[in-house]
Amino acid sequence: MPLRREEVEDALKTVQDPDLHRDLVTLGMVKRIEVDGNRIDLVVELTTPACPMKDRIRADIEAAIARAASEGGHEAPEVDLEFTADVRRPNEKVHGKASPLPNVRQIIAVGAGKGGVGKSTVSTLLAVGLARLGARVGLLDADIYGPSAPTMLGLTDLPTQAHGNMLIPFEVHGIKAMTIGKLVDPEKPLIWRGPMAHGAFKQLATQTDWGELDYLVIDLPPGTGDVSLTMSQLLPLTGAVVVCTPQRVAQDDCRRAVRMFEQLGVEVLGVVENMSWFVGDDGKEYDLFGRGGAEVMAQTMGVPFLGALPITMPLREHCDLGTPLGNWEGPSAIGASVDDLCRAVASRVSIASMQGRYIQPTLSVT
Ligand code: ADP
Repeated sequence: MPLRREEVEDALKTVQDPDLHRDLVTLGMVKRIEVDGNRIDLVVELTTPACPMKDRIRADIEAAIARAASEGGHEAPEVDLEFTADVRRPNEKVHGKASPLPNVRQIIAVGAGKGGVGKSTVSTLLAVGLARLGARVGLLDADIYGPSAPTMLGLTDLPTQAHGNMLIPFEVHGIKAMTIGKLVDPEKPLIWRGPMAHGAFKQLATQTDWGELDYLVIDLPPGTGDVSLTMSQLLPLTGAVVVCTPQRVAQDDCRRAVRMFEQLGVEVLGVVENMSWFVGDDGKEYDLFGRGGAEVMAQTMGVPFLGALPITMPLREHCDLGTPLGNWEGPSAIGASVDDLCRAVASRVSIASMQGRYIQPTLSVT
């Protein structure tokens, strides 16, 4: 006799999401159980298309069903498991008010203690990488002092369009993007005072017609300034990713960035080590800046480490040419490392979102 539907459900109650530490049934992730003779059709909805735990969840489900069958004296069923994904909608309130971006599910800020460590590069790779893994993604280049998106995404020759008072984001490389760099003269130095920076960020974030997004990645200006404060007060952020290079001096700046987010009540999703190592023509890996430095720093600060990227010439070239998808092509491509990084970020986002750990800012300005 085959397993009954209720027995399959009971078996699934013994399978935990490895990140969320609760069972799949309680988490509402089991969307379909159909038993037809000895064949079981299952649909399990993950919290992100970039789920790093897919294979493990599949193995655990198959093991749990096989165990239930064997314990009940049934013959081993054939399991057809399909994964779907729905990025969960977190707390939509910020300071007790409704989010100005109700159609955006998760907002991830990317910051760094100082310029030049690859914050914009990582923001771009995260956005494009999450989209490649199946998510709907927007990238807001909020580095109003030195916007990189026009170059890194190749927007220079594209016209800026608006309908009414809403900007239409650029649809490139599988993502939607908006940048101050397309709204001001790129040759003119931008001197923003605090309130102007506040206004510019607010307009860019809320007057862009993002549509429905799973993730909005925000590339912040470097350091610990006005835009981060405005952002934390305006938007219900899921958390922040901090980019760091491995050297000692970079770590000190990175620590300050981590502390800033903590002070703003923004959860630090983790640290990314950029320019971690370099592969020479001889194929050897050189730890130019002391590989692992940022990882150790993350550990000592008690924040997660999300992954590392090497320093490579193709990556720099793709940044300069505005061809981010090129990072997934060719033998020395870093695409696999970027995918790992995206999965790590998506996983931290799901955990933060599920646990509802939205601490609201404790700092305010009047
Ligand atoms: P930030 O946003 O922190 O100021 P960027 O992302 O603009 O830094 O990066 C600065 C420069 O370094 C850019 O030219 C970028 O292409 C290059 N770069 C960043 N990360 C890497 C890397 N891992 N490998 C090669 N070049 C990189």
